[in-house]
Amino acid sequence: MRIVCLCGGVGGAKLARGLYDVLEPGELTVIGNVGDDLTVLGVHVSPDLDSVLYALAGVNDEERGWGRAGETWRALESARSWGGEGWFQLGDLDLGVHLVRTEALRRGDPLSAVTERLVRAAGIEAHLLPATDDPLRTHVVTPAGRFAFQEWFVARGHRDEVDDVVVAGDEEAGPAPGVLEAIERADGIVIAPSNPYVSIDPILAVRPIRDVLASRRAACVAVSPLIGGRAVKGPLDRMLSRMAGGTTPAHVAARYAGLIDALVIDEADAPARAGVPLAVTRTLMTGREDARRLAAFTLEVVS
Ligand code: GDP
Repeated sequence: MRIVCLCGGVGGAKLARGLYDVLEPGELTVIGNVGDDLTVLGVHVSPDLDSVLYALAGVNDEERGWGRAGETWRALESARSWGGEGWFQLGDLDLGVHLVRTEALRRGDPLSAVTERLVRAAGIEAHLLPATDDPLRTHVVTPAGRFAFQEWFVARGHRDEVDDVVVAGDEEAGPAPGVLEAIERADGIVIAPSNPYVSIDPILAVRPIRDVLASRRAACVAVSPLIGGRAVKGPLDRMLSRMAGGTTPAHVAARYAGLIDALVIDEADAPARAGVPLAVTRTLMTGREDARRLAAFTLEVVS
């Protein structure tokens, strides 16, 4: 069963890991967001691709919720002490990936090629494709001005309300090799419980990806990132309230109008109506077992 999962960072990566666990080797293709990518201290960082990479490799830190287990921060502390920028958390283990990726990009390799190599190096039997190899950057428009995504999210602690999200470079961006084919050949498509505005929209901002999804042959199911109308973590509930007028399943489904055939929601949000069929279960993933259970449930809905 070939499954494609559109995925953001940590929230989405938990379900991607669950899917990887319940599917056969080689059956999962994750299409990841690159709108959050940035350059820090000279290295190219792809935070969402790395969250998926670490989750699939089983080296993610489940307690902290992001980054690698057993991480240390000595290189960053040293950089700070020498006057370098220190606002973005770069762990010592994490830096290894950034160095390998940055060197490959400098040599002229596309992001998709180096991501593929990282996946193979980790022994992961799934595909991880960036939505695009082209520069695509998410910006948020707030009452305090327009910020690059990580400046708002990390440096400003996402304290500003968001009036709009702009994906710069969307008109020029083409899909990375294999992305359209994976969606066309999929037996089912899953949109992970990621932030629709800043994790999934930047994938759909690549026009051919949205078009191929809109004319899909296989069913597409999204898993809601809200539980009881609240984000498990992060600013999504505030964003949806302000930009869409509420945080019900209908507000989540409306973000994916025309693109999904069903929405998986939490028991805390039922009963509800959303214009698409709803499938109700517990959606909180506190560990691998929860993720496997939600993945298996979602696969039942999609097939
Ligand atoms: P992140 O910001 O790096 O975590 O990237 P994502 O966009 O992939 O995920 C953010 C969203 O994941 C938030 O809106 C959370 O509410 C949602 N989320 C996180 N953990 C869970 C979970 O266990 N279950 C569900 N349903 N949503 C989750």
